Amino acid sequence: MTAGEATVEATTTATTTEQRQAALEAIAAEVRGCTRCKLATGRTNAVPGEGHPDTEVLFVGEGPGQTEDAQGRPFVGRAGELLVRLLASIGWRRQEVFITNIVKCRPPGNRDPEPDEIAACAPYLQRQLEVLDPAVVVTLGRFSMAHFRPGERITQIHGTRAPAPAATGARDALAYALFHPAAALRSLDVERQSYEDIAGLPRVLTEARARRVTAARARPAADATRATTNPEPEPGDDAPTLF
Ligand code: URA
Ligand code: SF4
Repeated sequence: MTAGEATVEATTTATTTEQRQAALEAIAAEVRGCTRCKLATGRTNAVPGEGHPDTEVLFVGEGPGQTEDAQGRPFVGRAGELLVRLLASIGWRRQEVFITNIVKCRPPGNRDPEPDEIAACAPYLQRQLEVLDPAVVVTLGRFSMAHFRPGERITQIHGTRAPAPAATGARDALAYALFHPAAALRSLDVERQSYEDIAGLPRVLTEARARRVTAARARPAADATRATTNPEPEPGDDAPTLF
């Protein structure tokens, strides 16, 4: 491949850490200046999302709260502190995953995001998915679940996985449903359940890696995803580390 071809390639598929980082920063810059929906008028800072550009796991929440709006970063308030504790319980750190939201600007008074706002913001999440190409999408709460596991109920499917629809921008990814950490802050039952549910996540990552190796083998070589670079799981390997 010539250098010219490599440049063309880079605009369609970010293949190196630096290319992914640059593509994510370009999306973030657009989000910070976005006025596509009415949430733009009430925000202090848009919250594009943050994390490791090479991660295999994307966490998707609902929308920024007050602390996130003040800082321009996702999950930095009390719900974020619980998310960090949940991650720590399986030996993961927030810098090893990527964390974003369904809507990137805070709904006033933390009201639910509305359908027109979710639709207006969806292209940013789709592009983040295309760049990150995660093996697993972890949905936090009802609104994120509705996007990646449409037609389901959180009380029925928390702690379970299903293929994420390709229309979301995900490619051969499994969507794993968790309760929203803010719900866990309000209920000891939900908190206990959240620890149980996240304990299943490493095994889902192992499964997702294996699925992607199989899917990539079934595709023409030019269409291979990063799945082929992931190690194949060993039998009994149910606790993969991220990095
Ligand atoms: N709740 C969310 O859904 N997202 C955040 O970023 C913070 C709290
Ligand atoms: Fe733009 Fe999304 Fe913010 Fe609406 S919520 S203004 S679509 S970035």
